[in-house]
This record gives sequence, structure tokens and C-alpha cells, in this order.
Amino acid sequence: MGLIERVYDFAVQNKCEALKNAPMSDYTSFKIGGPADIILMPDNAEIMRKIIVFCNNEEIKPFILGNGSNLLVSDEGIKGVVIYTGKLTSVKLTGDLTINCDAGVSLSRLCNFALENSLTGLEFAFGIPGSAGGAAYMNAGAYGGEMKDVIVSCTHITPQGKIENVKASSLGFGYRKSVYSDNGCVIISIDVSLMLGCKQKIKSEMVDIIEKRRSKQPLEYPSAGSVFKRPEGYYAGALIEQCGLKGRSVGGAQLSEKHAGFIVNRGGATCEDVKRLIEIIKENVYNRFGVMLETEIKMV
Ligand code: FAD
Repeated sequence: MGLIERVYDFAVQNKCEALKNAPMSDYTSFKIGGPADIILMPDNAEIMRKIIVFCNNEEIKPFILGNGSNLLVSDEGIKGVVIYTGKLTSVKLTGDLTINCDAGVSLSRLCNFALENSLTGLEFAFGIPGSAGGAAYMNAGAYGGEMKDVIVSCTHITPQGKIENVKASSLGFGYRKSVYSDNGCVIISIDVSLMLGCKQKIKSEMVDIIEKRRSKQPLEYPSAGSVFKRPEGYYAGALIEQCGLKGRSVGGAQLSEKHAGFIVNRGGATCEDVKRLIEIIKENVYNRFGVMLETEIKMV
């Protein structure tokens, strides 16, 4: 039996949903990406752990998929196993000011849960279209806040199948990065600590932030958010705009006319279109300003 068949059988035996040859374009905010050999969708931590142990025994390195909002997936798709976290969906209070949130919960749902409980500190994250796990992995941030400001610990599964709860101080949070880029662990939940606030104020801050996003970002088209990290001392969008590149297209990929930090899929864009456009942007910015832009989106 081939590897994918063995993985599929294992999933069926463990009552885990599994999809073969699923188009990754259905699982990414960019709407780009060829088929994944198999996507497993565990709905609890124990099945997730079994899958990880199985993969480790089979010497497979699975790709962990959150909400797919920071990904550029190849047109050839993903060979091997993808594990989708979106079915890990519990969010609960663990104290007056603390929340435990499964990796697959959307940041917007987590923010709304904080609001319902009059807890302040997460407003910055409202509208970031990621999952809690993906946001911890990326140390997502906006409007002066970052996940590292609120996360007190993450619970993860090591590639060997050990469940560990690790304090934030050991998670190597930096600008759009954490230890998870290198350690192969899968985040299954995060613990956040917030402060008691005024519901009305929290709500109006969230509304404000969404309005800012709507006015500045091209939310009407599929994208993966800001393509480039902020280079030290500059803003990527401003450098790109000064190169006169806004609106530049390759195939169906276009550098947004609204926000020069975003590449949007105007319809039928391929991964190759986006990569070519990224190269053009990097080349122009480097030639004009001597600044080498680094991508924030993850290429898979
Ligand atoms: P994915 O895109 O699915 O994955 C990202 C990386 O995390 C991958 O390497 C993946 O393997 C890994 N990963 C995901 N979940 C886990 C897990 N449970 N365990 C281990 N590894 C995991 N980002 C910001 O920081 N600030 C913004 O303001 C912002 N605005 C955006 C606006 C738009 C319109 C879009 C489309 C994107 C924006 N982003 C922003 C980017 C994106 O939403 C964030 O990076 C988000 O945190 C990614 O989460 P995700 O669940 O979608 O992760």
C-alpha cells in the first residue's frame, strides 16, 4: 500500500476526516495552490497527537495548515500530508482574566469572546484573518499590538508526540516569528491573559480597527495580507509605491492599487504569477533604495 493510502486508512481507523487531492486554493485566502495529496482534519488534541506520532514513525514531515491566510502554495500543490487545525474549536475562560483557545479558533472569534467577557487587550487582532495557532506561530500583530503581548503560554505537540505547555518567555517571539518556525511542534492551544475593560470601549476600538482595515486594505480581492516584512527604518509599501509599481500585474496577480504592500488575486492568478511579481518588486526596490525586501508570506 502506498504512503497516502496508509495515511488515509489510519485516518479512517481513527475517525479523522481526510480528503485526498484537495485543492489548496480552497484552503488559502489567496485562492491559489494545487492539490494536497491528503489533508487530515483532527477534531481533538488526542487524534492530532496520534497523527503526529504516525507521521513521525513514517518519517513524514506534515505541513500544518491554519486558516491559510499567510500562505502562497505552489501550483503543483503539496506532496504528502497536510494537517488542518480548523476543527480544534474550543475557547473558554480559565480564570477571571485568562482564556484558553484552541489553535483552530479564528482570531475574530477569540476577539469576540474577549469582548463578551469585557476583556481588553486583543482589540489589535480583530480582523487579522488567521487562526489562533497561526497567529501564535507568526506572532501576528497590527495597530501597535502583537500576539506576544497577550500570550502567556502555548500548548503544543512535539514531533515525537509529547504534549507540552511552554511559557511565552521560551517561545522566541520576535517580529513575525516564533520558535515554531524551527521546532516542528504543532500548537494545539494558546493561553492569553487580558485585562478587565469596558465593553463599549472594547467594541468601539474593534469597529474602529475594522474600518481602518476596510479603508486601507484591498479586502475585496483574495490576498495573503502584507507580502513583505517591514524593513528596518522603512515601510515596504512606501518604498514599493515610490518605485511606481502600484497596479503592476503578472497574469492574474496584481500589486494592489489600494495598498502597495498587498498582492491581490484579480482572478486566476497562479503561484508562479505571484512569485514573478515578487521578484519584480524586490528588484525595483533594491535598485532604487538598496533595500532587500524579505517576504512575510510563507511559500509552500
Ligand atoms: P496559516 O497561513 O495557515 O499558516 C502560517 C504559518 O503558520 C505556516 O507556516 C503554518 O504551517 C504555521 N501554522 C499555522 N497553524 C499552526 C499550528 N497550529 N501549529 C504550528 N504551526 C502552525 N498578519 C499580521 O500579522 N497582521 C495583520 O494585520 C495581517 N493582516 C492581514 C490581512 C489580510 C487581508 C490577510 C489575508 C492576511 C493578513 N495577515 C496579517 C496575515 C495572516 O492573517 C497572519 O499571519 C495569521 O497569523 C496567519 O494565521 P493562519 O492561521 O492563517 O496561518
